[in-house]
Amino acid sequence: MSTFQELGLNEDLLKAITDLGFETPSEVQAKAIPILLEEDTDLVALAQTGTGKTAAFGFPMLQKIDIESRTTQGLILSPTRELCLQITNEMKLYGKYNKGLNVTAIYGGASIQDQAREVKRGAQVIVATPGRMKDMIKRRLVDISKIQYAVLDEADEMLNMGFKEDITEILSHTPDEKNTWLFSATMPREVATIAKKFMFEPKEITVGHKNEGSKTVSHEYYIANSRDRYHALKRLADVNPEIFAVIFCRTKRDTQQVAENLIGDGYSAGALHGDLSQNQRDIVMKQFRNKQIQMLVATDVAARGIDVDDITHVINYQLPDEIETYTHRSGRTGRAGKTGISMVIVNKGEVRKIKSIERIIKKDFIKKEIPNGMQICEVQLKATAAKVHAAKVNTDIDPYLEEINALFEEDTKEDLIKKFFSAEFTRFFKYYQKSKDLNVQDNGRDRGESGRRSSGGNAARYFINVGEKDGYDWMKLKDFLKEELNLGRDDVFKVDCKETFSFFNTEKEHQEKVLAFFTDYKQNGRFVNVEVTEDKGGRGGGGRNRGGGGGRRREGSGGGDRRKRNDGPRGERRSGGFGGDRKSGNSDRRSSSDRPDRRSSERSTSFSDRPRRSRRSED
Ligand code: ADP
Ligand code: MG
Repeated sequence: MSTFQELGLNEDLLKAITDLGFETPSEVQAKAIPILLEEDTDLVALAQTGTGKTAAFGFPMLQKIDIESRTTQGLILSPTRELCLQITNEMKLYGKYNKGLNVTAIYGGASIQDQAREVKRGAQVIVATPGRMKDMIKRRLVDISKIQYAVLDEADEMLNMGFKEDITEILSHTPDEKNTWLFSATMPREVATIAKKFMFEPKEITVGHKNEGSKTVSHEYYIANSRDRYHALKRLADVNPEIFAVIFCRTKRDTQQVAENLIGDGYSAGALHGDLSQNQRDIVMKQFRNKQIQMLVATDVAARGIDVDDITHVINYQLPDEIETYTHRSGRTGRAGKTGISMVIVNKGEVRKIKSIERIIKKDFIKKEIPNGMQICEVQLKATAAKVHAAKVNTDIDPYLEEINALFEEDTKEDLIKKFFSAEFTRFFKYYQKSKDLNVQDNGRDRGESGRRSSGGNAARYFINVGEKDGYDWMKLKDFLKEELNLGRDDVFKVDCKETFSFFNTEKEHQEKVLAFFTDYKQNGRFVNVEVTEDKGGRGGGGRNRGGGGGRRREGSGGGDRRKRNDGPRGERRSGGFGGDRKSGNSDRRSSSDRPDRRSSERSTSFSDRPRRSRRSED
């Protein structure tokens, strides 16, 4: 194994490295640093999150730039403000003995003038998010016409987030002779395309297999009905009393909802998603870092850049659309040499997705049972016992001990223990006493949609008064229904989207839920009406001719809390919700921007979940 010295780094950097406590270079560092120091070359480096990529480009860049000069020589593009700040900080630490070095962070949501001023003072290195960078170029507040090194960090994420045009635009303002170093955890086709377009004969480094998951993370999946997802989540949390987790949901709305439910059920949880203000997100992240929050419920986009080392679990409340996203999610745990567990809650129809993920990450999932109530109680009880056992006696309670002791005079030690734990646990036991088994047996057969559809008599067909004029097509409507109703992939079918109205099917078992959900449901200010219809959904048939006009609402069964849930064992705390900029409780319906990114048709390893319309020629 090499040392940083052997990689060819200079004294100033080596001193900083000692201060940082880095002892040996990580694999990506050992591979990238010598190449970047010795050659003026473009580079593509693929390595998992947490493998030390920042230093892999940071050290060589700092060694190669001219600190005496005030010209901007290095540009590092990164997908999020959080990462941008992280990289800036790291670079400053790496360069702490490089006197005169200025590293400037450029990102949205802060004063552009302040940032411009800082650049003007002579930033040799700029770390930027693409959006703000483009802005500043347009306003001539930065000059990157003389840069020698451009880094695309987390390139896959930047492309996922739709920054392709911005990156193209930014790079067009840089000299052709510069070197471009691209760092990415995964290699979807878009990244390869970027590499081809902007780089000249790049050297390639791969650490581990392409798109492979981290070695220190084990993967588990749990099969539950979609309607039990939330309960399954609670049990997974309850059976891991020391959990410190990120829970991933697919939409901002689910994220907010799950977080609110958890908080309402007495868990220490918080939401992180794009509908929160930057300030709210900062607060949540700070609480999470300080472990004031045990469970952070997040969207994929918002969770980018979360760099917290001790995360014990990643819970996939819903699977992501893209397998690469799963790699990123699970990479949030098992960092810095620690082990971590990535859990996935799936319904039966999604089990096959697990197989696809296994192939890509080259690791097997362990199928686990959702714990039953008694197992949870046992774990909780023992955890409390261990905590009591390990507790340090607090002498501040001394003045009250006499009174307390008097109270327990008659009790033996055994009695006291029994009483103490009963007091702590009755709530838990009560809650879980009659709890049902949430596990769904996977019979190994993939029923598929067709099998389900032919189940004929068991399907319910609905009329809904939204259609193409509301911006839906059958895929969007299906996604919308699935997400809103929290149903699995195969649970909504035969979606037939007309101009002003549509039809869709679910299994009969979901009928009550569907109708209840759409009682009092408003979208863009008008009531969305859903009724059961006799049309059984023969393709192409228009079904019965409905008026399709807006505003009809179901009578009766008034709009109660359609998301009623059992209060958890943790008590009845119901704070008004977290970081709440939700508009008005139940009637707050998500906007179209909530929908998960649908630009997946160009990606290499997406689940073949939905038909692709625009396949590219090289497919
Ligand atoms: P990546 O960009 O690949 O996700 P980072 O560059 O953010 O990874 O590094 C992850 C963590 O590992 C950081 O806390 C960083 O300080 C630390 N780190 C990086 N290189 C080393 C090293 N050689 N030895 C010890 N820790 C390191
Ligand atoms: Mg990084």
